[in-house]
Amino acid sequence: MEEAILLLGGNLGNRELVLAQAMEKIEEYIGEITAHSSIYESEPWGFEDKNQFLNQAIKVNTQLNPQQLLDKLLEIEQSLGRVRTGKLSARTIDLDILFYGNQKITTETLTIPHPRISERLFTLLPLAETMGNSQLPVLKNTAQELIQVCQDRSKIHIWNYKDNL
Ligand code: ADP
Ligand code: MG
Repeated sequence: MEEAILLLGGNLGNRELVLAQAMEKIEEYIGEITAHSSIYESEPWGFEDKNQFLNQAIKVNTQLNPQQLLDKLLEIEQSLGRVRTGKLSARTIDLDILFYGNQKITTETLTIPHPRISERLFTLLPLAETMGNSQLPVLKNTAQELIQVCQDRSKIHIWNYKDNL
């Protein structure tokens, strides 16, 4: 069993409902969700779109290996209506693996830790909430430390405060 940290996000359709549906499917097909952050709203990063994104970080305990986990996440994305139109575009749901235990993984299909964690506030803020002051796997810094040096100046705010699990 490993603990994976995932980032959920999307900017099309009923964004909050899609996040909730993604969490349900993750519990069903991947494993128990043991923590989640508040939901954050942010402007699209790296491309123009009128629809703002919602993002949320979660911790999940899973028996799946990293590739199986990725395959399941891609299946869940598809089942929730994601249409792939290329990189950096509007999407109903994006499910990214930020961390998988303490493992560092580089394959053709998978890079863990996710390579853009430290560049993006929409990842770092929910991550900081889920990880508290603990050192992040592999990267060693805390999320707070990464936030302090992050150059990202995009607008982001809490959309919906975390409720208790
Ligand atoms: P992005 O999330 O960068 O906007 P996509 O969601 O379209 O892009 O993902 C494209 C591919 O990224 C996936 O099919 C997967 O093979 C690859 N990938 C590499 N590392 C990861 C990771 N840590 N989490 C999720 N996908 C990853
Ligand atoms: Mg993705």
